[in-house]
Amino acid sequence: MGAFNRTRAKQAEVEAKVAAGQCLIDGCTCKPRSRGLCDHHRMLFYYELRHLDTPEERAKFEADQVRDGKILLPGESVKTKRRARSPFTKVG
Ligand SMILES: [Zn+2]
Repeated sequence: MGAFNRTRAKQAEVEAKVAAGQCLIDGCTCKPRSRGLCDHHRMLFYYELRHLDTPEERAKFEADQVRDGKILLPGESVKTKRRARSPFTKVG
């Protein structure tokens, strides 16, 4: 398991998209603005989040999306970019 309980493959996919300056949603070529998402997809994420009833459901929804590589944790984008640029990231 990689960071934030993502699988290693998912984490690699997320880091590659962040390094390439792409929105995390498959097939979207827009520039990410916040948390790895373009404005459109970030808006859709918050739209879904707002329609859940309880803070617990919202926390679970967000954690699931983070684990599935569909959004970054708050503050994660900078860290991920720095790691993705380094030639010394762990291999395998
Ligand atoms: Zn997008």
